[in-house]
Amino acid sequence: MELYRGAYQIASLYGGRNLYQYLFVGRNTVLADTGIRSTPEKVIFPYLERLKLKPESITLAVTTHADLDHQGGNSAIKRISPGTLVACGEADRPLVEHPQTLYDRRYNHLKAEHGVALEEKASPDAGEPCKMDLTFAGGEKIRLKDDWSLDVLHLPGHSHGHLALYDALARAAFTGDAVQGSGCPKATGGIAIPVTYYYVDTYLATIRYLETLELDALYTGHWPAMRGEEIKDFFADSRRTVEFFDRVILASLKKSPSGLSMKDLVAACAEAAGDWPSDGQILAMFPIKGHMDRLEQHGKVRRLAEARPHRWVAREA
Ligand SMILES: [Zn+2]
Repeated sequence: MELYRGAYQIASLYGGRNLYQYLFVGRNTVLADTGIRSTPEKVIFPYLERLKLKPESITLAVTTHADLDHQGGNSAIKRISPGTLVACGEADRPLVEHPQTLYDRRYNHLKAEHGVALEEKASPDAGEPCKMDLTFAGGEKIRLKDDWSLDVLHLPGHSHGHLALYDALARAAFTGDAVQGSGCPKATGGIAIPVTYYYVDTYLATIRYLETLELDALYTGHWPAMRGEEIKDFFADSRRTVEFFDRVILASLKKSPSGLSMKDLVAACAEAAGDWPSDGQILAMFPIKGHMDRLEQHGKVRRLAEARPHRWVAREA
């Protein structure tokens, strides 16, 4: 779908959710995100062909952040078009370059202490290892043609190195999974998986930063395109969801003097939310870990680190 002159949304489905990449065609051609392993050959290259472009026309492919559905296609892009430069946020680089590192350090880092994890071995969807040609830290400009460029934004929270692209001419931001509303929707409506930010304060700072940008349109990795008031509502909803986690976690701990484990807290949040499908609930371990670290820093909870799995108890105010 052409969003506006030279900017395209490439859509497919993954796990019942919409999965979007974005293509900017100027003198340089820039792709934002590469999907899962099969997305380039099944979706992106056929889309390019309809625009009379070849895989080799892609100057630069930017991975917004370390997740298998955003980076998995990098190895296929590089195999078919070795001249295309691949890039990601510097802080995400080790995870984007190696699928097993992504699993060990991003998906399964809570296993030893909290007894919660995804499958151990990287899914084939995460693609092959693929070295980045360059990395961004935010503040860079990518020129598309003489009078058109994209600003690279650093929007951490969902990951440390999360990037977004901002088109100042179109007043449009392409934010991947940097901001997540009340959770990631199914393509057919309703929640597919809960929000999955990792670091609460940086996530809130990212929302605040985006609220200061001149924005007419917001394009993301999985959410429907938003304009005007819808964007404001999405940011407000995102902030409310952060407050929801703090509220439910603290209320649950107050009712449980012997403490709660990560699994207990996931169950408590899932019950309070009421609309998370059972197979996706466990992903709430990521934001909950972020909240527990922050509540611990603020002196509101104490972690019982000698217990396996760890448990948390509320501290008296
Ligand atoms: Zn995603």
